Amino acid sequence: MKIDLQGKVVLITGGSRGIGASCVKYFAEAGAEIAFTFRDNFEASQKLISSIDPLVKIKFYQVDLESEMEICNCVDSVLMDFGKIDILVNNAGIWKYGAIESMTLDQWSETININLTSAFLFTKLVLPEMRKSNYGRVINISSTAGQRGEAFHSHYAASKGGIISFTKSLASEIRMQNITVNCVAPGWVDTDMSAEELREEGAQEKMREYIPLGRAATPDEIAGPVLFLASSLADHVHGEILNVNGGSVLCG
Ligand code: NAD
Repeated sequence: MKIDLQGKVVLITGGSRGIGASCVKYFAEAGAEIAFTFRDNFEASQKLISSIDPLVKIKFYQVDLESEMEICNCVDSVLMDFGKIDILVNNAGIWKYGAIESMTLDQWSETININLTSAFLFTKLVLPEMRKSNYGRVINISSTAGQRGEAFHSHYAASKGGIISFTKSLASEIRMQNITVNCVAPGWVDTDMSAEELREEGAQEKMREYIPLGRAATPDEIAGPVLFLASSLADHVHGEILNVNGGSVLCG
């Protein structure tokens, strides 16, 4: 069976690079119409669009995910441009170092706002549209950090644990036959976010030791499971945390 998302509109946050850009590419190949957000990477966003089949309807929107107003304006613009939003991928995020005793409230809040509160805002704004059309797929991106915690990244781990609880809560709260809410929880992925750590001396040996599959994932290897959750193959999957971590964190 081929994944076919023709006629569906997807909104992907943080689509200009990394996992988000892979999602843009995969959803385009599946025939969806695509709206994606970017923060400041205008050139990368343009380049990404030019690599997509010109027959695919695709637009990008500059949004700072720390701004509620910009998120509201973005959803309004997407609805104006595309008429609906069928699939929402809450992907954008940051991962910054932060030792608990020196972390400021601003540093804590920045991570929580971008990684967790933005997912709340986008979902809250998009759900009424999904209810109207009696169809919707919300896919949140968490992390193994949200499952096992992460030293010196407690704000990040808390935001990603929050994404998991948010996903499960919505799965039991939204009782509509055709709206599902799920989550993908990656381990190490080779993107700009983790590039520095993955290139450190000894990093590859560590990967081989701690990840049964022996390496970090590629962004495409996360986009595939996201696409699966958006597809009709996953129509009865709801409230699921799909681990995509090479076997590094084995939790159900
Ligand atoms: P990335 O840094 O390559 O991309 C992050 C995206 O988020 C970018 O498009 C960036 O512009 C956007 N973003 C960040 N702050 C923003 C803001 N204030 N306003 C608007 N957009 C903003 O990282 P990635 O690896 O592709 O990460 C995608 C998701 O996957 C994130 O939620 C991340 O936490 C999660 N994740 C990544 C890894 C990894 O190892 N790379 C592991 C587990 C989970």
